[in-house]
Amino acid sequence: MKKNSLQLEYMKQSGKLVADIFNHLKTVVKPGVTGCEVDKIAEDMIRSRGARPAFKNYQPHSGMTPFPSSICWSINDEVIHGIPSDKVVKDGDVISVDLGVELNGYFGDSAYTFLVGNVDPVVKKMSNDTQRALWEAIQICVPGNYVGDIGKMIEYTLQRQYGIVREFCGHGVGTKLHEKPSIVNYNDPKRRGPKLEAGMVLAIEPMINIGTEKVIVKEDGWTVVTADGKPSCHWEHMIAVTIGDPIILTDRGDFNFS
Ligand code: MG
Ligand code: MG
Repeated sequence: MKKNSLQLEYMKQSGKLVADIFNHLKTVVKPGVTGCEVDKIAEDMIRSRGARPAFKNYQPHSGMTPFPSSICWSINDEVIHGIPSDKVVKDGDVISVDLGVELNGYFGDSAYTFLVGNVDPVVKKMSNDTQRALWEAIQICVPGNYVGDIGKMIEYTLQRQYGIVREFCGHGVGTKLHEKPSIVNYNDPKRRGPKLEAGMVLAIEPMINIGTEKVIVKEDGWTVVTADGKPSCHWEHMIAVTIGDPIILTDRGDFNFS
């Protein structure tokens, strides 16, 4: 579960690639573009840097349809695992993009919620609050705290204003996209989880809904939508626990707090 300094160097490179792609996508995701176009741009950039899109053909269990795209593209009431389509982005859309790469055998994983043009202020606040909760959760990732403290901090920061999705969670990352431990986004007093130690690499990813926490998986087997049809957002960073401050491996420079 813990990475040595050489492995951490590889993970920094994977994280940096993901961050660079997101910083490029910030100039691309706007009204008129389609999910398929953005998917192609992301995939081309991943491959041009000698990496592989980690989500493409990803099949967590046999019997599941492999994921068809390089990015997850989840619009409005879609929470996570949305499949890019030819539907055109319009003003007011909220789009969560999740992106995974494999570079030199090490994975990078991060998600960003795009607020396109004039988004409902309530939804904008939810997204900002979620980003803030992710930031606060990252700050407590120091040796001696527990994995369970992460969800506790996310729930505490959001102060019961929103629905915290419970069926999906964050995870360890390394030479596999999903490693132990699982990292839930809510407080579970019965589940403290392992103690955080220097060398752990974690993907922390709150998925937050404006209404109910309940979600439904659509017939395509992938797209997760809110049960009440209300908007959702998803923020994720991959971080390394160190003996000092945690390192945000997928840092895009878009945290404006602290
Ligand atoms: Mg992700
Ligand atoms: Mg993840």
